[in-house]
Amino acid sequence: MDEKKTVLIVEDEKSIVDILRFNLEKEGYAALTAYDGEAGLSMALEKNPDLILLDVMLPKMIGFDVCRILREKGSSVPVIILTAREEEADKVQGLEIGADDYITKPFSMRELMARVKANIRRTAMQQAGPETAMTAGGGLTINPENYQVCKHDRPIDLTQREYELLTFLASHPGKVYSRIDLMEQVWNYEYVGDDVRTVDVTVRRLREKIEDDPASPALILTRRGVGYYFAG
Ligand code: CA
Repeated sequence: MDEKKTVLIVEDEKSIVDILRFNLEKEGYAALTAYDGEAGLSMALEKNPDLILLDVMLPKMIGFDVCRILREKGSSVPVIILTAREEEADKVQGLEIGADDYITKPFSMRELMARVKANIRRTAMQQAGPETAMTAGGGLTINPENYQVCKHDRPIDLTQREYELLTFLASHPGKVYSRIDLMEQVWNYEYVGDDVRTVDVTVRRLREKIEDDPASPALILTRRGVGYYFAG
């Protein structure tokens, strides 16, 4: 059974929506569309898409709020933020409120489709098969059967990407990965430019959730000038 993956486009510029929908459908995805933030949010909650392309500047509710509320409601759907070129700060802000990725307007359709594919492939892989529960240091347990991470038996809410980064690093304790390695292994990107900053932001957010003292982490460690590794 090969069910179509659904992508929700939340964007108020009709010309962009049209070209996105055209290209997504050409690639075999089903497309849903919403032209303002409120409609996007309720459609996301109602229809459970496999991925959301989310503009920032939207009528009624900005994209950041849409993403933040989705995460507060426990949704782990991959979210790619569409930002305007002059809004560099948007990228980091978007990642901090739980988006998985961002792409800068004007974007090349080829790059956007690669990101969509990478994020959807990631979801499919995550659902591929159960591994066994694992206990890391610092009172941390990871249960891949229900994607639940607990700290001293208290459940922690992680986004899908945070979860994947954590499980990837924790599966190879002591091994140092460069940010480019992590982009390729966890984000599934073949091409990386200045996007390695995404890794830093995600690591920081993850530390805030799992470390006793995020300012001096004991689980996810930095090897200066090289990359990150899991204590072990
Ligand atoms: Ca807009």
